[in-house]
Amino acid sequence: MKSKYIIKIKDIDNVAVAIHDLETGTEVLPGFKLLDDIPQAHKIALTDIPADGEVIRYGVVLGYAKTDIRRGQWINEHMLNLPKSPSVENLEYGTNLVPMEDLPLPGRTTWMGYRNQTGPAATRNLLGIVTTVQCAAGVLKVAVEQIKKELLPKYPNVDGVIAVTHPYGCGVAINAPMAKIPIRAITNVIRHPNFGGEIMVVGLGCEKLTYDRVLPAEDITPENVLTLQDYAGHDAMMNAIMEMAEKKLEKLNQRQREELPLSELLIGMQCGGSDAFSGITANPSAGYAADMLVRGGATVMFSEVTEVRDGVLMLAARCVDEKVRDRLAEEMKWYDDYLESGGVDRDANPTPGNKKGGLANIVEKAMGSIAKSGTSPIVEVLSPAEKPTKRGLIYAATPASDIVCGPSQVASGIGLQVFMTGRGTPYGLDISPVIKVCSRNEMKDHWFDMIDISAGNVATGEATIADVGTEIFNMILDVASGIKESYSDQYGFHNDMCIFNPAPIT
Ligand code: CA
Repeated sequence: MKSKYIIKIKDIDNVAVAIHDLETGTEVLPGFKLLDDIPQAHKIALTDIPADGEVIRYGVVLGYAKTDIRRGQWINEHMLNLPKSPSVENLEYGTNLVPMEDLPLPGRTTWMGYRNQTGPAATRNLLGIVTTVQCAAGVLKVAVEQIKKELLPKYPNVDGVIAVTHPYGCGVAINAPMAKIPIRAITNVIRHPNFGGEIMVVGLGCEKLTYDRVLPAEDITPENVLTLQDYAGHDAMMNAIMEMAEKKLEKLNQRQREELPLSELLIGMQCGGSDAFSGITANPSAGYAADMLVRGGATVMFSEVTEVRDGVLMLAARCVDEKVRDRLAEEMKWYDDYLESGGVDRDANPTPGNKKGGLANIVEKAMGSIAKSGTSPIVEVLSPAEKPTKRGLIYAATPASDIVCGPSQVASGIGLQVFMTGRGTPYGLDISPVIKVCSRNEMKDHWFDMIDISAGNVATGEATIADVGTEIFNMILDVASGIKESYSDQYGFHNDMCIFNPAPIT
């Protein structure tokens, strides 16, 4: 149900959200006047709700009223008690498997990418130089500036040079069980599809993360790895890095884009700075694009454990078999324990910005977040930074933190990320392009030259989810093919490689 003023999603919902800022006394439906001023995207009670009564949006109980709420009142985040999260024991699976032929048919079936010997194709042709320890980061960053200035212009088919620096590598409990997560992230990022199989790793020489932890023996050669402590001072060090980089650039320069099927594409989905519109405009539109990609044979990854935890029953229903269901339950359980060991639970997730944007709690945020996965069956569940082994829709269990989810999905090999936002963020990744989609037209008007696509017209009724979803799908293929550049790449707005490390630091 939708009027000029409010949107209600499911028939059983007893709240709707305000399309714009609304004043007390506004008649939002015939004979129904507001009792409070309602900020844009915030919730309005459509019925009287008694204390302890259910507050329902998306057909789901978001929480229980702390006190009596009257019809027409504003419902903000202080007025709800959080429900318990659903159990992950004996989840019913495979009960909502949408057949492939019911997914929207993509209008384009190919794109232009750089083919790799194994794994997905590349969306960019990059020289990636990866450190084994943060101690080497300063040297590498200076060297990369020199490479860009002196060498890169000679190799026009190479799109860029990236210093992959991260906080891991030394001063860490390297044998702690959970150290496998950051080590896997670094191992897999060395082999990122956009680096074209050219390995270049720079270490210091005394760190705990030795080369053999991130490379197979046959790849640990003087052509691929360089140890700073082996060189006599600044000039020798820089010369060695420049020399190795030039050999890699020569090889990368021979790569050419070619027409490829969508099955060669691996796309990530993430959201951040969400508001109450994210779940009705930007995320469902991205979900529609995800369905088109999956129908066309591509692989789409979505993540963010705390933002799907309350929707685990919906996800389990979409798991193709018992094994995938079990992996989903295992990852949810691990994250519950991880949060508990830190003395918090999933509701530590929403930010002040989310709440200002009308999201009362994590249940409401999760229902909106899940929409970006579309409707297709989940074929595989991954631990953070693992690479997919299947094609189709993949759930990779990463933190929801934008700056940690991004690098985790990059380590899993995404060639591009679609990022939905309500409040606005300049977020970007240097290894994989990021397309930003906002949930409201006001956001697009405000950051007209930083947000790539607005899904706001879905809220105003000027566009459908299919319209915006198709626009997102087309932009994914154009950016992946190198035909278009997203704003974050145009400006070089790129976040750091904040890899997930749940293991102790010493
Ligand atoms: Ca996020």
